Amino acid sequence: MIAGPTPTWRTVLLDLDRTLVDVESQVDYCSALAELERAGFRHPAGLGPATSWGNCTRQVVDLLVGLSDESEWLRAERFVMPHELAGAHRAAAMPGLAELLAALATRPVGIVTLLSGPATEVVLDRHALAVDAVVPRRHDIPAKPRPEQLLAALHTIGSPPAEAVMIGDSERDEMAADAAGVDFVGVTNGRDGHRFTGPLVVRDLREAAALLRP
Ligand SMILES: [Mg+2]
Repeated sequence: MIAGPTPTWRTVLLDLDRTLVDVESQVDYCSALAELERAGFRHPAGLGPATSWGNCTRQVVDLLVGLSDESEWLRAERFVMPHELAGAHRAAAMPGLAELLAALATRPVGIVTLLSGPATEVVLDRHALAVDAVVPRRHDIPAKPRPEQLLAALHTIGSPPAEAVMIGDSERDEMAADAAGVDFVGVTNGRDGHRFTGPLVVRDLREAAALLRP
């Protein structure tokens, strides 16, 4: 529920998967996880923060973002990337995407995602998403819920965090936004058991678009 006026944000950061486009439903992360385990990769102790993600998705992402060695990270990506690319080619827009894009108007926009770079490019191309900055999963930038991906996008755009809002479907997005000093709009997609803690929580992109209109 939204109470009272919302701030006027000059820059908008967007999560990609299940915020703008549903990629996860089309990616076989359980096969990717099995391939990683057969190749000797082991899951780091403890899972990252709970989200709406499936268990295999969560384990694959936590394993990947927990790898600090570049060669190991690249070796692991080779198992995950084909599954994500296949899913990216099938992924459908989330309800209200057109309304959200219209409401962005002329604001600078950044995409901050835990998807691989190649899968992200496929999704942006298929859905004609033209943006000013893209920060996908990279071995050299700590991943959400850390703030670095958001700060990298804001640096590219040239926007201070205080003038920006992040829109995302995951508690990790909210934690990253909080850590970066960026306002946050949580999109529940009808999920009752969400753990968003901030005041701006909406059901879908149509409601998010309403917050962006003057
Ligand atoms: Mg997401």
